[in-house]
Amino acid sequence: VGQALARLEGDRFGAVVSVDRDGAMERAREVDLEVRRGRLRGPLVGVPVVIKDNICTRWWRTTAGSRALADFVPSYDAAVVERLAAAGAVVCAKTNCDEFAMGSRGTTSAFGPTQNPRAAGRSPGGSSSGSAAAVAGGLAPVALGSDTGGSIRLPAAWTGTVGFKPSYGAVSRRGLVAYCSSTDVIGPIGASVEDVAAVFDALAGPDAGDETVATARAAGEELPRTAAVLLDGDLPGVVVDAVRTVASCFPKRRDASLPSLAAACAAYHVCAASEAFSNLARHVVRAMPRSRASWAEGTPDCFGPECARRLELGARLLGERHADALYFRALDVRREVARSLRDIFAHADILVCPVAPHLPPRFDDHLPPADRGGGGDAASRRGDFLDAVAPDLPADYRDDDFTAFASLAGLPAITLPVAGSSSAGLPVGVQLVARRFEDRTLLAAARLVS
Ligand code: GLN
Repeated sequence: VGQALARLEGDRFGAVVSVDRDGAMERAREVDLEVRRGRLRGPLVGVPVVIKDNICTRWWRTTAGSRALADFVPSYDAAVVERLAAAGAVVCAKTNCDEFAMGSRGTTSAFGPTQNPRAAGRSPGGSSSGSAAAVAGGLAPVALGSDTGGSIRLPAAWTGTVGFKPSYGAVSRRGLVAYCSSTDVIGPIGASVEDVAAVFDALAGPDAGDETVATARAAGEELPRTAAVLLDGDLPGVVVDAVRTVASCFPKRRDASLPSLAAACAAYHVCAASEAFSNLARHVVRAMPRSRASWAEGTPDCFGPECARRLELGARLLGERHADALYFRALDVRREVARSLRDIFAHADILVCPVAPHLPPRFDDHLPPADRGGGGDAASRRGDFLDAVAPDLPADYRDDDFTAFASLAGLPAITLPVAGSSSAGLPVGVQLVARRFEDRTLLAAARLVS
């Protein structure tokens, strides 16, 4: 713990928001005592852990990367923090993240951007950017992140770490600063499947403070045999190769397609902005100036531009004029996506696919405008929903193309680094997805291929 604290205090990646040296040292001594008394054992005993700063810690500032919460000191621990403590882990630091977990590049935090320890000058991915960078940069062995539409899996892919988003409902969200409550999930980032599995074991289970958590234990560990391979769209060759290499570890393979892939990402962003607007209303009320100021005037010393954009989008989406064509249509797309995934999983145990449609971008890379309209079959399959929504969505929202669908359907998904697959030396991750609550089957599959 002492060594981890020293490394965290020397953070050069913008990964850390605050370190609790005194609290961690005291806790380490307590853990030591408990171990000597034979009251505590297990794989997490004495392990230093860092957690994303949108997870509440008692008497320890929790900012969610926002000026709106710059002085927020919770009076309670999140359920996951209690569970880590019960397993003997020692929470040492809070990690930087995109503001209110909105983002995919580690650039929207009020505390500055996070650097990628494995690829200088490039994005570490977001929004759990500090958690992934802390693991990739050797500051901590394991970290907690949150994943609403890809925020654990994407930074894991771009930093060459393992990132696990459990099934929606496998881990309590009590004490997580809410973004899109119907897809928010807390999960681990680590250097190996074993490490994230050990943290998941400590986190999973029912909690009286979050009624969406399933009371049934996650299904048993069955070795998956058939993999469905999803490779849609224009992907870098190294990503395609990495997906195929991973898929080849399974005895049987079949090609899969998800016609609603792009629509799923757009529907995710509609749901996320809408739920964010509703969830963040409490901060808006607190942070608004007392005058009858407009949104835009109310935001500068409270929300950054990306967060303000999403809140405005959410307000419009839920408004009477657009709700039917956009918000409720997004819910239809969400059901459609879940149906297509059920079809895929009727013939396969695991889905293997990319994590992101590109390798970690440079901070100054601007993607071309989202090309989602256009004629032909694809456009008619996507329908009017995508045409109506896509022009309003910034191009980097496409970073979530391959992660959003599992979030909408609540499925467990994991990012695994594929060693040496990029000729440019950039990390490449591959994603495995399983049926809901088959988290342990997913981890078994991940062990099989790593
Ligand atoms: N990039 C997605 C978004 O900006 C996902 C974020 C997340 O999972 N928290 O909403």
